Amino acid sequence: MEYDCLILGAGLSGLYAALQLQQRGLRCAVLEARERPGGRIFGISPYDDETRFDLGPTWLWPEFQPLIAGLTRTLGIDLFAQQTGGAALYEDPNQPAPLRIDGESPNAHSYRIAGGTFRLIEALAERLAPDTIRTGRRIAELHQRSDHIEVRTVADDGREESFGAPHVVSTLPLRLLADSVRFEPALPAGHAESFAATPTWMAAHAKFIAFYDAPFWREARLSGEVFSRRGPLTEIYDASPVRGGPYALFGFFGLPAHARRTLGRKELAGRSLAQLQRLFGDAALQTRGWELKDWSEDPLTATAADAVPPAGHPAYGLPEALRTAWDGRLLFAGSEASAGHGGYLEGALEAAATACALIGPNNTDQNRK
Ligand SMILES: Cc1cc2nc3c(=O)[nH]c(=O)nc-3n(C[C@H](O)[C@H](O)[C@H](O)COP(=O)(O)OP(=O)(O)OC[C@H]3O[C@@H](n4cnc5c(N)ncnc54)[C@H](O)[C@@H]3O)c2cc1C
Repeated sequence: MEYDCLILGAGLSGLYAALQLQQRGLRCAVLEARERPGGRIFGISPYDDETRFDLGPTWLWPEFQPLIAGLTRTLGIDLFAQQTGGAALYEDPNQPAPLRIDGESPNAHSYRIAGGTFRLIEALAERLAPDTIRTGRRIAELHQRSDHIEVRTVADDGREESFGAPHVVSTLPLRLLADSVRFEPALPAGHAESFAATPTWMAAHAKFIAFYDAPFWREARLSGEVFSRRGPLTEIYDASPVRGGPYALFGFFGLPAHARRTLGRKELAGRSLAQLQRLFGDAALQTRGWELKDWSEDPLTATAADAVPPAGHPAYGLPEALRTAWDGRLLFAGSEASAGHGGYLEGALEAAATACALIGPNNTDQNRK
């Protein structure tokens, strides 16, 4: 057999799993439906190739997240503190003007990756064996065979392929896995029910970002942070690069997914810019451009059930009995499988490490005979 292990999904969890297994000498491929790796880690570089602006995850907390702290050090990735200098603003529907809030920001311990979070994906991909990441291959079916698992993929043009390995690590968000992949035989009921009930972190949300030639909010001694009960953006932050411009502000919408869909991108952008003008003055209308990413409409992250976000941060993690299936050959990772840091970048690493540790070297040796 060509592979010791197949990894499903080339997000952070999938690439980290591939690195761990290849460092142990196992032969593996990562099968990915999108035409790019990264999954929820996604940024755009509208002005120069050096600077990506994040439309997915932005922050990490190295003080409390040992795996990502260590990985960024190993990969030589520079971190910088989230810009929090200056006052934050608070918008209340019953107040005529926003209130300035001085004092330490709740984001004072949040860090960003210089050049954008996608640097992490690029640096991991560079360390994998050539051709490890196979993009444009959507997993459609998994079949349990006597000594391996067969993975069937389909490309956008309908081309089907089949891969096989004694072990398969899925890093698809658990709910998406249960919703979109066919298992033969069916997954045990306990697995299927638990996975379907696991919300994909941030899948219900959308980000808006506006680009500027000057950081006019900093000039007014504002951090760019806003907490708003008026909206449409409920939280806003400085999203500028580590040095120089173009400068940027990003925000999360408070409107639910169905309301965003009804309004459409242009209307949402218009209302967001009007809010920024209300908060920061007319300079906020002089954008170089804007972008909006609605994750609830992305079928490779969100299912219909993800349109409604969970009330708080869910209690993620898989009990031991649900970490594997099919005699231990099929393993489940992805951030939501992590008990300690589920939903976060740190969780994607932790879940991958937990799954990889369950793949013993003996299985591999037997297979090569
Ligand atoms: C808007 C937003 C903001 C966030 N902010 C933060 C933050 O500030 N800090 C933080 O720590 N975390 C944040 N997160 C969460 C963070 O992005 C995730 O925890 C992390 O990226 C999950 O990585 P993963 O590899 O587990 O999953 P994913 O990145 O979802 O990777 C799964 C992969 O599987 C692929 N896939 C899906 N279906 C198939 C299929 N059928 N066949 C093949 N491939 C498939 C997907 O394309 C994807 O590449 C945020 C997320 C979002 C959306």
